[in-house]
Amino acid sequence: TIKTRVRLNNRVEMPQFGLGVYKAENGMEVTNAVEAAIQAGYTLIDTASFYQNESGVGAGVKNSGINREDIFITSKVWNTDQGYESTLNAFQKTLKELDVEYLDLYLIHWPVEGRFLDTWRAFEKLYEEGYIKAAGVSNFQIHHLEKLLANSSLVPAVNQVELHPRLTQIELRNYCSEKKIQVESWSPLGRGNLLKEPTIEYVAKKYGKTPAQVIIRWHLQNELVVIPKSVTPERIVENANVFDFVLSQEDMNVLNQLNMNERFGQHPDHFK
Ligand code: NAD
Repeated sequence: TIKTRVRLNNRVEMPQFGLGVYKAENGMEVTNAVEAAIQAGYTLIDTASFYQNESGVGAGVKNSGINREDIFITSKVWNTDQGYESTLNAFQKTLKELDVEYLDLYLIHWPVEGRFLDTWRAFEKLYEEGYIKAAGVSNFQIHHLEKLLANSSLVPAVNQVELHPRLTQIELRNYCSEKKIQVESWSPLGRGNLLKEPTIEYVAKKYGKTPAQVIIRWHLQNELVVIPKSVTPERIVENANVFDFVLSQEDMNVLNQLNMNERFGQHPDHFK
């Protein structure tokens, strides 16, 4: 099994490795993927109300037979639901879809200007009432975090952002580490675009691993939480087989140098 965990700023332990389910279809596709992942030792699932597959995720967790407290479930409030009351309502819907009593981590999906502070007030309430074990954000730049921290005493436990060897986010990572905010990498494989990168293929050969495994290992050794997405059982297993080798510092540096500040997803300062 996969035991690596990180300790969040509120002392909650979060698995460092998990399954992302963006674009996994609700129903059999996502349910089978979640079940396969849990069988392969995954203990963290990353979904969102926007993905419209929370009920399928919940079914996968149930089918797996794992105890609720042994699985770490993350979901996110969507942009159009932001604001105080609407967030509280959206949260109840998320709980119902997943068919759980609490979330381990709830994230503000994107920093909607003029709304995210009210959304955060709702998160504070959910956190105080024990409905969410940790409160966090996603796609927050330093300036968004500055604004949040200036207006609340609850420091986000996590900031989930696009991050991979082509977008290493060094400045944001340094800022988050200073503020004790755990960084979590979305599109950790660059949506699959990095799997044919020659440097990564070269390093992978050297360790007798696949490019996906090398990239996931790079995230782990950078102390990032990483949630690669797959619905293919063989790949789900492959992506978890990253705890039997260590990249040398030299190879870590080689991978770090692939940074081009290249995004495959939307930019947090102008998203739709
Ligand atoms: P990813 O980087 O995880 O890449 C997924 C792609 O790589 C898929 O097409 C998959 O088929 C392929 N792949 C996965 N493992 C492979 C393997 N071993 N060999 C070959 N191909 C493989 O991309 P992602 O899904 O965008 O990101 C992962 C997760 O991050 C999402 O599922 C979601 O949970 C989260 N996410 C969050 C946000 C956000 O705004 N917070 C945005 C995007 C994604």
